[in-house]
Order: sequence, then structure tokens, then C-alpha cells
Amino acid sequence: MVPAPLGEAYDYLPPEGEEPAQGAFVEVPFGRLKMIGVVFGEGKGGVPEAKLKKVIRCLPVPPVPEVALSFIEWVAHYTVTPAGAVLKMLFGNAKFIEPKKKDSFDCPAFLPDFHQPQLSPDQTKAAEILKQAVRAQKYSATLLDGVTGSGKTEVFCEAIAECLRQGKQALVMLPEIAMTAALIDRFAARFGARPVEWHSALGDRQRRLHWQAIARGEAQFILGARSALFLPYPDLGLIVVDEEHEAAYKQEEGVIYHGRDMAVARAHIGGIPVILSSATPSLETLQNARQGKYGHVVLPKRFGVAQMPNVDLVDIRKYKLAAHEFITPPLFENLKQTIAEGRQAMLFLNRRGYAPLTLCRKCGHRLQCPRCTAWLTEHRQSGRLHCHHCDYTIRLPEKCPACQAEASFAACGPGVERIAEEVEARLPGARYAVMASDTLEKPGAAQELVNKMSAKEIDILIGTQIMAKGYHFPSLTLVGVIDADLGLAGGDPRACERTFQLLQQIAGRSGRGEDAGKVLLQTTAPDHPVMKAMIKGDRDAFMEIELAEREAYCLPPFWRLASLTVSGVDQAQVSRTAQTLADSVPRLEECRVLGPAPAAFAKIRGKYRHRLMIQAPRNINLSSILKRWLTTVKLPRNLRLSVDIDPYNFM
Ligand code: ADP
Ligand code: ZN
Repeated sequence: MVPAPLGEAYDYLPPEGEEPAQGAFVEVPFGRLKMIGVVFGEGKGGVPEAKLKKVIRCLPVPPVPEVALSFIEWVAHYTVTPAGAVLKMLFGNAKFIEPKKKDSFDCPAFLPDFHQPQLSPDQTKAAEILKQAVRAQKYSATLLDGVTGSGKTEVFCEAIAECLRQGKQALVMLPEIAMTAALIDRFAARFGARPVEWHSALGDRQRRLHWQAIARGEAQFILGARSALFLPYPDLGLIVVDEEHEAAYKQEEGVIYHGRDMAVARAHIGGIPVILSSATPSLETLQNARQGKYGHVVLPKRFGVAQMPNVDLVDIRKYKLAAHEFITPPLFENLKQTIAEGRQAMLFLNRRGYAPLTLCRKCGHRLQCPRCTAWLTEHRQSGRLHCHHCDYTIRLPEKCPACQAEASFAACGPGVERIAEEVEARLPGARYAVMASDTLEKPGAAQELVNKMSAKEIDILIGTQIMAKGYHFPSLTLVGVIDADLGLAGGDPRACERTFQLLQQIAGRSGRGEDAGKVLLQTTAPDHPVMKAMIKGDRDAFMEIELAEREAYCLPPFWRLASLTVSGVDQAQVSRTAQTLADSVPRLEECRVLGPAPAAFAKIRGKYRHRLMIQAPRNINLSSILKRWLTTVKLPRNLRLSVDIDPYNFM
């Protein structure tokens, strides 16, 4: 099997005097190219031997273990992608598979008992169950469900310790690289060495060294992004999926897959335990726990003296704010007081830049991306407008492109930069910092901010969802959410669930030390079920309502969904093709086809996009049906079809 988006493996003759094992990496001629492929199994025959090409050489590296091969095939099948495409995603250029002469990597030794914390009775109970799962050495999935600050990390570290004692490899998965730095230090303090990392930010040399160490089984403890699931572990004994509810686990490009779901599949295929950890588990996982498919371990209280913060709503409609102000009087008073008392505050707004929309006051023209159905976001610090869907960026024009009026632009709505401006104007002297993905591009920038926060050199941290998780600031006692309604609009069936999870995570940053925490949510919809659940702190009641709605509307986790998107530069052709496709979906009684319709972002990077959605009961193997059907479908060459099983993106 070569790393190219082709369906099948090809037959080759073995090199002179060698018999490459299953899983071996081999260099083969492929067309006019040479490629590094993987031996998937015996030849199929069917091609006369005289016509077969010969393997050029076998690479002197460990073969991919059978479990990892089966997993690759399973993922390919489930996501309706060719196995070659999965290989391409894993080692497209294969540069890191072969060691270089001077390579040497001192693999850290992990000590299961390097620093063992004194666990609370609740934590001890939870840790025992997880350790038992590791000792059992067979497949199990367990939801570790504990409020923010309850010590989930400490508890799953006990399971990792148990896995290390068995001499097996343990993998901890994170949804985003930005979170690794803080956790690495914690793991190092717990196990006496830093875990071996695997994610897209590694340099070439590091990637090579880490791959070798993992493939040889020397690296015992791995911290990685979703791609780490596919590594050729010779002896994986445990997978932990931290923040399992995070949508960032979904890979939306190329092979479209959900890291959490694939982790469960990998555990199943490998016959090992997987732990899904979250303070706000996804409905999918909760439902699996309720049905008894997953174990359910609960940590109901924060560790130590810390209490859950008090959550209040501020009805924005009651206050008349100036056009450039977004902080209501109650939030402002609380901010002032918090700083006066020498404590820290966080202001949350899930929007980068200065303003999400710029329009001409004279003619109403809105500055839009020429390539996407999207407004341009102003970034005032850089003096530029950016499209957050493609890389398009321009300087803020001097004249309105529609009516030529000068100095006529008005910024509409806030982004985090604008909130920072308001803080500076209204709270002179307050030390603030902005935390968003675009302000953290330099490596180490996140860590620097975290250090400053910990050293209390920052009074107010203003940021996007990037600061929602993982961080622990004991003096942070106030969290203000500028626009709690932001995620609720739009056609995403998970909008309420996700807004609730995000608000809970943000709220969870408050009051993690000795001082009581407070959370203020600015909203225009105080009666919305999400807001009500937030003040009552009643997650389970909210989840019950959500589950009932999902069931009533035939949505996940009760039904399966698949989304098919046709894209291309010719709008009429895209629309026609999507319709033809929809008409040819196999008519199974229980399945429904929704659409086709233009996607919410009808054009991205100059390509028009039409989508259709297939709903099927859970007992239907949608992947198999789609695969069989799609092999019969011929699409014009200039169009692309992308298949998304279990879609999370409805834009
Ligand atoms: P969660 O992952 O559930 O949000 P953490 O594991 O980050 O919680 O724990 C929250 C804080 O409490 C961390 O600073 C952690 O070090 C501390 N903590 C939790 N359990 C213990 C324990 N048993 N002993 C000492 N500190 C603990
Ligand atoms: Zn764009």
C-alpha cells in the first residue's frame, strides 16, 4: 500500500533473497516515482509474474504492528476513504521513518511513583476503578466525569502509572497543541520525565527521533494530538482522551475523522482500555455511559477547599451601552472590585481581532472576502482586515470601494482587541493581556502569558476559547462572558450543547483557589435553557432536555449522520451535481436525505459548496452503504466530493 489516495494495495515481487514481513516499510517503484509503502499482506495474484515490479529495498526499521495496520484499514473503511489516503496522512513524505546516522535520542525513563500525590477519598475510588481497567488488559471505555478542578488529571495519572508499571506504552491525547506546555510540566513533575510529544508543531529531527523511539517501544509515555493514534506502537496499553468533548478532535480536512471516536476504535482493536476525561462530556459519550457501553466514574467535587463558582446572568437589554462599549455596569463594577482586592479576572469573547464586521456609514457597503461568503474581520493592531476562512488579508482601504466615501468605515461588534481597548479606556492602570490564537503564534507565547498570570503580573486576561481549558490560576476569581449567546445562532444541532460546554469550561477557570469565584454571563436571552442550566449548575437536567430533542429530531447520538459536500468553481455545475447525487442515494426505507442546499458558507476559497445530509438509524452500517454506492458514482473531474461521517461542522 503506497501513501496515495488509491483504494487498494498493489502486488510486488520481494527483493532478492528477502521476504519482507507484514507491516514492513519498503521502497517500491510506482509509475515513474519511487515511494515508501507498507506491506499490507500477501499478494493477491492475478497479475502475471513477469509483469510484476520488484521491491527496491526493505527499510531497516520495525514493521508496523498488526494492530496498527488493522486500525488503519478500519479508519479507512469507517470514514469512506482509501487506505492509501490514511497512509498519506500518516507519513506522506516518509522522511521521519528512517533514522539518520547521527541520530541519538535518550528516551526518558518514566517512574510510576516519582511523585505520588495524596488523593482524596473520591479520587482514590475513581483511580482504583481506572487502575483495575488497566490491570484487566482488555478493551474497556470509561468516562472520567468530574467538575473542573476535581483532579481528573491526577486521577488518570494513576492509570498511566499502572500502565507504566506493566511496561506498556501509554498515550494521552489532547485536542489542541496550545494545551501541551502546561500539561507537560505537570506530567514531568508526576513521572520524573517529560512525555514524548507527537503533533504537527514538531521539527523534522524531533519527529524522526520520536517516531523511532515510539516504533521501537522505547518511548513509554506519549502526549499527542489526534494523529498520535496512528503511530506504530508495539505495545500500547492505555489511551487517555483529555477534554473528550472538544470539537477540535474532529479533523475536517483530508481524511475526516473524530479523534475521540477513533481512539475508542483503536482501543477496541488493540484490546486495551481507553479513558475519556471531561468536565462537560459530549452527549455521545454520556449516552454511551447511560447505556452501559462505557463505564462512568464521577468526581463530584472540586479538590481541596475550592468551591464551584457562583454563576449570575446580566440581561444586556436592561442597560443602555454606548456604541463602543460592551461591558455592562454590573460586570464593570465587579471588574473594578476584583482588581482593587488584588485578584484576577478573565473576560471571555469567542472572537478574534477588533471587529467582526466593517461597514460604510454612507452607503452601508460591508467589507467582504472576495473568495468566501464571509465578512472580513478587522485586526486593528496590524491595521489589516482578515478572512478567517481563507488566508485573504488586505489593509483597511482608505475609501469605501462602493461609494468612494472617505473615512466612512464603522467597526460593528466587538472582538477581543476591542474589549482590550475598552478595558484600557475605562480601567486605566489595569494590567491586561489578550489571549487568542493569533496573538499566540510565537512558540512559547502561551506559556509566557500563563507564567505572567501565575506571577500576578496580569490583572485582566481577555481572550477567546483558547483560554477555556486546562489552566489553573488560583487568584482568578471573576470570569466575565461578554456575549454568552454567541454560539447559539446558526443551524448546528449541537449549538446548545457546545455553548453550554464552552460556558462551563470558561466558568470553571474561576475560584479554583481559596477565594470564592464568580461568573457573570452577559446575555440577551436569560430564559434560554442553556442560561438557566448555567445558573442552576444543573448539567444533568440540561443534558436530559438535549437528549430528548435529539431523539425527537432523529439526530446523533440516536441516529447516524453523514454529510456530503460537492464543491467547485462553477456554481451551476456544483448545484446540478449535488442534485444528481441526492437523487441517486440508495433508497433504504429507514434513511432520509436532507438537501441538497448551499452550505451556510456557500463559497470558501472561491469554491461553491452544496451539501446534502443522510440520516440513518444507528443499526445501519452507513459507511458500507456509502462506499458501495460511491464507487458507482462518476463525478466531473473539476468537482470535489467530500464525505463526512458523523459531521460536527454544519457550516
Ligand atoms: P481537573 O483536571 O479535573 O480540572 P486538576 O487535575 O487540574 O483538575 O486539579 C485541579 C488542581 O487541584 C490542580 O492544581 C491539581 O494539582 C490540584 N489537585 C487535584 N488533586 C490533588 C491532590 N490529590 N493532591 C494535590 N493537589 C491536587
Ligand atoms: Zn476568505
